[in-house]
Amino acid sequence: MKILVINAGSSSLKYQLLDMDDESVIAKGNCDRIGIGGHIKHTAADGRTIDVDCDFPTHTEAFEKLVEVLTTGEAAVIKSMDEINAVGHRIVQGAEIFNKTTLATDEVIQQIDDLAELAPVHNHPHALALRACKKVIPATTPQVVVFDTAFHATMPEKAFMFGMPYECYEKYHVRKYGFHGTSHRFVSQALADAMGKDIKDLKIVSCHLGNGSSITAVEGGKSIDTSMGFTPLDGVIMGTRSGCVDASAVTFIQNKLGLSPSEMSDYLNKKSGFLGISGVSSDARDLGAAAEEGNKRAKLALEMLRYEIKKYIGSYAAIMNGLDAVLFTGGIGENSDDLREDVCSNMEYLGIKIDKAANKGLRGKLAKISAPDSKVEVWVVPTNEELLIARDTKALVEGNL
Ligand code: ADP
Repeated sequence: MKILVINAGSSSLKYQLLDMDDESVIAKGNCDRIGIGGHIKHTAADGRTIDVDCDFPTHTEAFEKLVEVLTTGEAAVIKSMDEINAVGHRIVQGAEIFNKTTLATDEVIQQIDDLAELAPVHNHPHALALRACKKVIPATTPQVVVFDTAFHATMPEKAFMFGMPYECYEKYHVRKYGFHGTSHRFVSQALADAMGKDIKDLKIVSCHLGNGSSITAVEGGKSIDTSMGFTPLDGVIMGTRSGCVDASAVTFIQNKLGLSPSEMSDYLNKKSGFLGISGVSSDARDLGAAAEEGNKRAKLALEMLRYEIKKYIGSYAAIMNGLDAVLFTGGIGENSDDLREDVCSNMEYLGIKIDKAANKGLRGKLAKISAPDSKVEVWVVPTNEELLIARDTKALVEGNL
């Protein structure tokens, strides 16, 4: 069975075609600059590549080009789109409407679009891509939507409510939704498999650390709390997002700088975080290099992230009344041994003891990095959201979900 996985943004359309018989990637790529030009980079598993400028006024033209490169030309991997059994789409916000993977009927696509108020950057582009895909891909090919928020639907009310007037929730749907759910679900299951344990018996803190970062308490395979909130702005400091700040600081600065609500939102989402603190870059590698050269603010930004992760691990151990494992994933979590060592040092009280040698130089590899006598196991678990979307899509179309 072949599944096409789509991750669409406002100006881009990332894709992977997977062969689910062995879960291998047949081809992957990205159509970008949609609406402002157009470009496709497509790579087949055997290395054949297409890398050309195109004209993509909308997502529809990008899908047409995608069909063309998959089926014809020098990097084709299939003869016809009929070979693709289903398409799985990543959707950021499912709110309280979607708590599981679903078939993308016209009504579902409209509901995803209607949720754009809660996720303006993501949901409308997802709906555009779903409609474009329906136009271009055979009508008989099922389309499936997999939500970033769905894994967090199990959070209890006491975890997802904010201490604001109840009408904020009732009338305006303001609550913690959580994000990166596809990743947290994938890595926590992969960790349980690697530990040879049933996930139902485990208390896990899952740290997904990339440009966007979130930390989730996974108890018995279910998310019971997570660091991102109403939007992906909440939680730990990120590349350009502030993470959690006192809401009064927001209204205070908005007033001081005379910013409109949307300008203030940009300030917190695009100019804050690593970039805002360091003034150097939003990228953890750049900050590491700058810190080594003595840049104090770059060092501070990195220290803030490490400190905040420690606090989440401690608080999630408290709410779960224990901890069996901590896992690191995402670009920073998988690659930064320094960060993992710092976060896991001086945590003996919680039963965490890192094996410094085992922690070194693991680039994106599944590995246990805790010492043999550590009560809590610590692991690096590479994430693969596309694979989880493809697995869910396959299960749904086969009637197993
Ligand atoms: P996104 O959230 O956009 O998916 P990624 O998960 O790819 O992002 O993570 C990107 C982040 O990972 C960047 O801050 C980058 O600097 C960081 N990163 C990648 N490789 C390394 C490395 N070797 N050491 C430290 N940080 C790294």
